[in-house]
Amino acid sequence: MKRRDALKVIGGTFAGLTVADRLGGYFTKPAYAEEKPAFHKDILSAPGGKRVVIIGGGFSGVSFANTLRELAPDAEIILLEKNPFFVSGPSHIDYSVGMKKLEDAVRSYYPLREKGVKVIKTEVGGILPEDNKVMTSKGNITYNYLLVSTGIRLADEEILQLSEHPAYNAHSWELEGTIELRRRVESFKGGKVVVSVPSAPFKCPPGPYETACLLDEFFKKKGVSAEVVVADANDKPQPPPLAQKWLTVFEKKGIKYMPNNKVVEVDGANNQLVTDKGEKIKYDLVTLIPPNKASTLIKESGLGDPFADVDPTTFKSKKFGNIFGTGDCAKTPYTKSAYTAFYEGKNAAHYAAIGMGYSVKEPVPIHNICYPYASSTESLLIRVDWEKDGKMLKATADDPKTDYRDSRAAWESTLLKSLFGA
Ligand SMILES: Cc1cc2nc3c(=O)[nH]c(=O)nc-3n(C[C@H](O)[C@H](O)[C@H](O)COP(=O)(O)OP(=O)(O)OC[C@H]3O[C@@H](n4cnc5c(N)ncnc54)[C@H](O)[C@@H]3O)c2cc1C
Repeated sequence: MKRRDALKVIGGTFAGLTVADRLGGYFTKPAYAEEKPAFHKDILSAPGGKRVVIIGGGFSGVSFANTLRELAPDAEIILLEKNPFFVSGPSHIDYSVGMKKLEDAVRSYYPLREKGVKVIKTEVGGILPEDNKVMTSKGNITYNYLLVSTGIRLADEEILQLSEHPAYNAHSWELEGTIELRRRVESFKGGKVVVSVPSAPFKCPPGPYETACLLDEFFKKKGVSAEVVVADANDKPQPPPLAQKWLTVFEKKGIKYMPNNKVVEVDGANNQLVTDKGEKIKYDLVTLIPPNKASTLIKESGLGDPFADVDPTTFKSKKFGNIFGTGDCAKTPYTKSAYTAFYEGKNAAHYAAIGMGYSVKEPVPIHNICYPYASSTESLLIRVDWEKDGKMLKATADDPKTDYRDSRAAWESTLLKSLFGA
């Protein structure tokens, strides 16, 4: 069966309302009958040739929207975001050990609305590239240009027992898990703490090692006896230019590092992780970062597998000329980070504007700057520069310093200010 036929069948089931009909009463009220077909019809008028739809209001989606608003003042820009507010990934780590409040990490989308970007809170369930349409939980939307900036999907299903028992784990790769991790960290009474790292690529490559360092410091300060262990699916700490720096930091702190330990099962009933070699790692507190993949939308729409295949200069899809892909969901040589996502969104907006006929200069190539925590008072430095075509020019790494810790605080607030004005 062709995909489009399958969609018709799904549509038929919705229209049939078999279960709802059986429930009767509420479901047969006229109000519901009016809402029913919304999933199948276009919810906006036909686009006028300059409608740009963005799926995902994270670092790259918002950066793209802001930049395009400036470069293409008469374009219609529509941002589709499933969450009610923006969440800054880098702040998750701070929050999990009590270094930040939740409100520091979130921002409202209202500043974008005030600039004339139409922000619609909805989840996109499908992309039909041949029809220039996206299917959302509110109905379909037709576009002239599309940006896919959906970030990472955490593939819980690749860790045995995890989808069935999410409470076996708490990690800071999404907001809900971060809140739970903080609760567990605060009530921890001591024992073995395991930080499990997935195979690269994953978002924020230094993140799991920062988590290990901050947990170690948190428990030492609190007088809680904890042995911190990093079980890494990779052969060295990430990103590779920081590998030796991390190993030195771990040695000084007494953090145990276990390379080539890919976790494939979390057995919460027995407090143990199981690796692909069948080895068991016992824990009293675990924070397991599941494999990082892109949204299934990307594979299903033929944009790439598992990440969207894009040109590293223009971020244009290699398959569809009016679709762009940026940030963590794209297959590029760039780090999966907030900083690169921000600049990728900016650069993609330049090429989208050029494609729409605006007279716009080519943007500068992507670079990344990051200040990973070695402790709450010291950060490392990693800077990577790429050429326009994505070839790496140089990578610079430096030891932990208090200056870098200060730079980190300024770094995140500057990014957030340029996205939201505050
Ligand atoms: C703990 C942690 C620490 C980090 N530390 C750093 C750091 O120090 N430095 C750094 O540079 N980066 C850091 N990062 C990484 C950074 O947050 C990400 O790389 C960045 O957010 C990627 O931006 P993005 O736009 O690609 O995706 P995101 O910012 O993840 O945004 C994707 C958006 O798409 C939305 N979305 C997804 N699917 C749909 C759908 N179907 N319909 C509608 N909306 C959808 C999501 O709700 C989300 O808002 C960290 C991340 C974490 C988790």
